[in-house]
Amino acid sequence: RAKVAGRARYEVGDTIGNAAALELLKFEQGLRRAIDNNQFDVYYQPIISLGDGRIVRLEALVRWHHPQLGLLSPASFIPVAEETGLILPIGEWVMHEAARQVQEWNATLTADDPLSLCVNISARQFEKHRLVPGVRRILEQTGLDPACLELELTESLTMQDAVLASEILRDLTQLGASISLDDFGTGYSSLSYLHRFPISTLKIDRSFIGAIEHRKESRDIVQTIITLGHNLGMTVVAEGVETEAQMHLLRSLQCDLAQGYLFSRPVEAHRVAAMLKERRQGGTLARSAEATKN
Ligand code: C2E
Ligand code: MG
Ligand code: MG
Ligand code: MG
Repeated sequence: RAKVAGRARYEVGDTIGNAAALELLKFEQGLRRAIDNNQFDVYYQPIISLGDGRIVRLEALVRWHHPQLGLLSPASFIPVAEETGLILPIGEWVMHEAARQVQEWNATLTADDPLSLCVNISARQFEKHRLVPGVRRILEQTGLDPACLELELTESLTMQDAVLASEILRDLTQLGASISLDDFGTGYSSLSYLHRFPISTLKIDRSFIGAIEHRKESRDIVQTIITLGHNLGMTVVAEGVETEAQMHLLRSLQCDLAQGYLFSRPVEAHRVAAMLKERRQGGTLARSAEATKN
């Protein structure tokens, strides 16, 4: 216990007193019970096509309804979950719940134009003998089309052990799922691995997007990532799009997809269903003249 607390780097700073350690322990015990007590919730954030403004993917983002602390964002508990290994059951729960939900929407609301589900996978989950069978089982149990499942990994995770990573990625793509690199540009990738791994999407980190209007360097980096991705046959997503100007600029740079508060924050399932019904009636989330003309 003390070891876990002592290694805790999360929110508590460098030195951690007994009181804080006890709090952390209580927090961890709460986290342990949270699945059984149904306290997790999957929020979904739409990813839209910059070509026509339609929702094409949904990213699953976990939330914890903490009995005392209220609604917690992943930044406040994912690090503890990773440290303790609880991310394994939590991650499986999230993937199962989101796959079930997206499969239901695809069967009822989006049949002609199914949505893909994007699920975050953290380093601790990137383990061949658990991740691959886990994904296979979830696909079987929920009936989600494997072509609709996209796993989001970070650069550093895939670069740690390239041989192992390429095996796991191969197994996952053999199941029919696809792979995205999340927060792209903030880690370090070997370009040769980018080429060798079966990666189909690059998600440009939002730190670059936030500055594209004002900083030429950011715009140049974004342009370079888009060109790189396209040259490797990948789809490129911009994360953290908050303004119309950013959206227009990204469209002019030929970026394929975008995600951000401009279109929607991550929302609860019932609100996604409402958005999808609206979409079926021809609505789009990109509030721009060009996008809505289509
Ligand atoms: P991420 O995968 O990069 O997810 C995108 C994050 O950016 C989300 O934060 C989202 O709410 C936020 N975001 C989206 N658009 C905007 C925008 O326009 N402006 C700003 N400022 N932020 C925006 P969230 O939901 O707090 O998740 C944070 C991180 O936690 C995720 O980053 C992901 O790394 C991790 N995470 C979330 N859910 C899961 C999960 O189920 N499993 C694992 N392993 N990690 C998860
Ligand atoms: Mg992500
Ligand atoms: Mg990201
Ligand atoms: Mg991230």
